[in-house]
Amino acid sequence: MSPTPPASALRPRLPTPLQQVTDPRFEARGVRLLLKRDDRIHPDLPGNKYRKLVLNLERARAAGHGTLLTFGGAYSNHLRATAAAGRLLGFATVGVVRGDELADRPLNASLAQCAADGMRLHFVDRSAYRQKADPAVLAALRRRTATEDAYVIPEGGSNALAVQGCTPLGAELRGHTDVAAVACGTGGTLAGLAAGLAPGQRALGIPVLKGGFLGPEIAGLQRSAFGAPGTNWTLDDRFHCGGYARTTDELTAFADDFEQRHGLPVERVYVAKLLYALTALSEEGAFAPGTTVTAVITGTPPD
Ligand SMILES: *Cc1c(COP(=O)(O)O)cnc(C)c1O
Repeated sequence: MSPTPPASALRPRLPTPLQQVTDPRFEARGVRLLLKRDDRIHPDLPGNKYRKLVLNLERARAAGHGTLLTFGGAYSNHLRATAAAGRLLGFATVGVVRGDELADRPLNASLAQCAADGMRLHFVDRSAYRQKADPAVLAALRRRTATEDAYVIPEGGSNALAVQGCTPLGAELRGHTDVAAVACGTGGTLAGLAAGLAPGQRALGIPVLKGGFLGPEIAGLQRSAFGAPGTNWTLDDRFHCGGYARTTDELTAFADDFEQRHGLPVERVYVAKLLYALTALSEEGAFAPGTTVTAVITGTPPD
């Protein structure tokens, strides 16, 4: 097995840039809006995906693993980032993809990029995919994919090391903002971001999935990463627009307009819902005049 260079070989751009934007919907309320450009952190592992992977990559290398095994849907940014990290650092990568019907179709652009980065894709049906955290199911999957020796990264990349890898995101915002807001899938990024903030700063999560199940999961992630959950974060569940990757005409119009106004390419699955939520909250008067609110820009639209 060839030695893998340390994850610092990825050469991230840190700290990521912080930009002020001038937007009348915030100015009218005396609120300052900043964008934390985590999308600029690395060309192949944008935003929170770099932060969530970096300590896992260090751990995998330190323990002598040559292969990374992970899981995702057909459009997973996490799968893409893992495949890119494998290519750049010399890990073999195996991606377990939800949906066995996809095996017989041409790969979409996201999975084609994974494959081009050397990721071996293994398609499983939805019920098997749902049970992948079950030890017996995982063991069978590892046998079938010959990945018994692989380092396993969970779906969405959220484990204790991922959460710890996101605390510097909060630390980079110390002294710069009152509220740090981020869109949530698994909530791992919010869990780490909140832990990195200074006393008095607070974190706000906007779930993009429907269901309202995220609060206990984020508390659990903080417990696993830091021993106890924090109290400086909240979620606002009103802005999922119907669920994961769902949109509404209003959200699309909002995102198109935000791109025009501010020259920011707006990623539509997560970032659009975050910016829409913050604008609505500002217009509702949810932020006291004089508040600085930072939107974490976690990704870019696919090309
Ligand atoms: C993965 C992802 C998220 C969600 O991160 P979690 O840690 O799972 O909450 C947010 N934004 C973008 C662009 C992502 O790719």
